[in-house]
Amino acid sequence: MEEPKYAKWTIEGDKKTKWICGCFQTVDDYFKFCEKHNDTLKKAIQAQVDELDMTRIVEE
Ligand SMILES: [Zn+2]
Repeated sequence: MEEPKYAKWTIEGDKKTKWICGCFQTVDDYFKFCEKHNDTLKKAIQAQVDELDMTRIVEE
């Protein structure tokens, strides 16, 4: 119960850096990306994960 409330407060109340496109970073290093960059960054992160061979943990 506590966790989502805290996360929401953090995202809405405590932005540290905000970029003109809409991406922002909060004081506790949470990143939220705008629609434009979300896809690009998701792919970049996925590429890193593949490189680290971390994709085998969850099996569906
Ligand atoms: Zn952006």
